Amino acid sequence: ASGHVVVVGGGYGGATVAKYLRMWSEGGVQVTLIERNPTFISCPISNLVIGGQKTMEDITVSYEGLRSKWGVRVIQDDVVAVDAAKKTIALKGGSALSYDRLVLSPGVDFMWDEIPGLKGAEAQNKVLHAWKAGAQTVALRKQLESMKDGGVYAISIPKAPYRCPPGPYERACLVADYFKRSKPKSKVVILDANEDVMSKKGLFTKAWSDLYAGIIEYRNNSEVKDVDAGSNTAVLEFDKFKADVLNVIPPHRAGDIAAKSGIKLINNRWVDINWLSMESTSTPGIHVLGDAIFPAPTMPKSGHMANQHGKLAAAAILNLLSGQEPNPEPVVMNTCYSFVDSKNVIHVSSVHQYDAATKTVQPVKGAGGVSAARNELEGKVALGWAKNIWADMLA
Ligand code: FAD
Repeated sequence: ASGHVVVVGGGYGGATVAKYLRMWSEGGVQVTLIERNPTFISCPISNLVIGGQKTMEDITVSYEGLRSKWGVRVIQDDVVAVDAAKKTIALKGGSALSYDRLVLSPGVDFMWDEIPGLKGAEAQNKVLHAWKAGAQTVALRKQLESMKDGGVYAISIPKAPYRCPPGPYERACLVADYFKRSKPKSKVVILDANEDVMSKKGLFTKAWSDLYAGIIEYRNNSEVKDVDAGSNTAVLEFDKFKADVLNVIPPHRAGDIAAKSGIKLINNRWVDINWLSMESTSTPGIHVLGDAIFPAPTMPKSGHMANQHGKLAAAAILNLLSGQEPNPEPVVMNTCYSFVDSKNVIHVSSVHQYDAATKTVQPVKGAGGVSAARNELEGKVALGWAKNIWADMLA
């Protein structure tokens, strides 16, 4: 195959598709990756930085491997516009690039309109989400370190679908682990907009009662409708909740560039794709990966899944660039590990196979499952998973 593919976003989906396009075409396809950040910083394992068990250095990886080993042209810039008819993109830096096929893996952006009190920069710098790893990860850790013993940390979870279903519960555990060691009079309150724990429920609730009785309190049906950032107060439907450290994860949608490129979004939020090629159903030539897509049934928004999307799309794009049809029976899989303390981990896994009748990928019955119980062996496996997937994407 030959041609020029431009990839927007060097996260779990984008970095993977960039590398695999170069590797599988044996250098035949030119690949340009545009990423606004200078280095890759991983959301998976970032909850351990917030809990004080790992450092930012542990979750940061350079783009140098993509450049020097795989010949990907990596440009640090922001993509501000896409012209799907002319097959060009515009960069904030002023230049434009043309493509034969475009891949968007922009992750998520937040729906600030849903939480009016968080619309300004000042409020956003005080009431953090830390749902994109980077400066906010460091800032949330600092807030927790400065909190007095006996204080309350509250984390709010938006209604599903959101990025990383088990992630907020993992964060609650790791903050509680830190409190148990360093600020034993402090509390963690989970304000969940959903009716129930969204992932690994039995395993998380067991960790809360075994390890964090009297520390973690879980409240379901507690959607944050607004925030008073000045007083760190979350406004719920019938109630208000004031915390010492308030961590609000606002509802999110496909990264802004998806809407700006004029492709079809479902519910004004997620991109509708053709699962055989990950191509937008409205706009041929634009493939979309990762958290930005309208998820298939039971499919989580995860880094592991975005990495699988990257490989599915790379194979399909190489076929399309050679005038062939994509594989008619793609299969993808997922495993998400969650730390419940600094050593013990639980996992959930699933396999999803394309179904021609429903034109989507469906969960394969009997495949996957969850850990029997939290255990330290999976703690080692989880750190190995992270190192392996970063190498798979970037080295
Ligand atoms: P991202 O990885 O977010 O990549 C998007 C990239 O696009 C970003 O680097 C961004 O800077 C860039 N970008 C966006 N727009 C533009 C633009 N216009 N121009 C240039 N660049 C742009 N998943 C797991 O599998 N396992 C876990 O254990 C796990 N733990 C998590 C823990 C936390 C706390 C969080 C928040 C998430 C976790 N996840 C986990 C989920 C995982 O991080 C996401 O699902 C994954 O990052 C999605 O990949 P993506 O490529 O869609 O987006």
